[in-house]
Amino acid sequence: MTTALTDLSLEHLTSLVTSLGFKPFTASQLVLWLYRDAVGSFEEMTNLPKAARAVLQERFAVDPLEPITMLQGSDGTRKFLWKLRDGQRIESVLIPSEDGERLTACVSSQVGCAMACDFCRTGMMGLKRNLTLGEITSQLRLMKQKTEKPITNVVFMGMGEPLTNFQNVCDSITFMSSENAFGLGKRRITVSTSGLIPQLKRFCERFDVKIAISLSAANDELRDKLMPINKRYPIAELMQFCREYSEQKRHTIMFEYVLIKGVNDSQDQAERLVQILKGVRAKVNLIPFNPFEESEYKRPDSKVYEWWSKYLWDRGIPAPIRISGGRDILAACGQLATAEKKEKK
Ligand code: SAH
Ligand code: SF4
Repeated sequence: MTTALTDLSLEHLTSLVTSLGFKPFTASQLVLWLYRDAVGSFEEMTNLPKAARAVLQERFAVDPLEPITMLQGSDGTRKFLWKLRDGQRIESVLIPSEDGERLTACVSSQVGCAMACDFCRTGMMGLKRNLTLGEITSQLRLMKQKTEKPITNVVFMGMGEPLTNFQNVCDSITFMSSENAFGLGKRRITVSTSGLIPQLKRFCERFDVKIAISLSAANDELRDKLMPINKRYPIAELMQFCREYSEQKRHTIMFEYVLIKGVNDSQDQAERLVQILKGVRAKVNLIPFNPFEESEYKRPDSKVYEWWSKYLWDRGIPAPIRISGGRDILAACGQLATAEKKEKK
């Protein structure tokens, strides 16, 4: 199978260019074409010598995935289903902000996920494999081709636990944040994690992007059940990291709390949440559970999540309610899974 050019890191791209006998700055030109301009073919790279284009065309593909379908939700959210070269499928979502100022791309980092969170549809698939570098960045390239408006933000909140695909996620962020590539500011990129502390530490030493932590319970007993990763990295350790990070970087950490009816939506949990967030610059995104067929869990009444939001705000913790977009097309948080699985049902 021909290599996809987007699977090469900047370093590899540079050594490839030299090994093919092209001028070294060809690597920079390729980066501009691939990521800033998101062109679909080598022919469009008009400032490259014809001979170079011919060699690339013969030896490389541009992207390692292809679009299968695009669904448009009633709220303007668009869900893309991609086929990878081994036949696996992944999804990405484009979410416009209400004021139309932002267009956020939600990308996947793995096929499935190994973390097995109890309320998550992707988790139910188990982990099939990590995505390659190109499988991550090409989601963005191909969405860029399909939209007139510029993509302003990227969130790693699609399928997968980004920090367990460490190197490829890091390499993709290098392209996302580089001015000559996707050119997104570092604070316009958010990596969301279930809380793998060692990887999180290593990641934060390397990048200054936004961090989101999926919490969804405020005591170990409950979090062990909802998010099994908690057995390895319990709440106290996680919060210690968060306090140190907040203190050192002076950045706010976003916490995601999926509210599930009768499971983690009690007043006691809200009180505990306020306690454990002491000393952390925190914002809590309250995500009412998005139901899906394979789960018995239910979304709480709006009264309940409105109460939570007010309770946290009143105690100095910003806590917006995130009714995730694209519910009618199963593009909302935690609803991503391959169509293959849906077809089997
Ligand atoms: N694996 C990473 C990023 C992807 S999940 C993480 O867990 O942070 C993105 C978000 O969707 C997480 O905050 C998760 O808690 C949330 N989520 C998962 N299943 C959900 C569901 N059924 N309803 C609402 N949110 C869900
Ligand atoms: Fe994986 Fe995140 Fe889903 Fe947990 S919530 S199973 S970490 S994708």
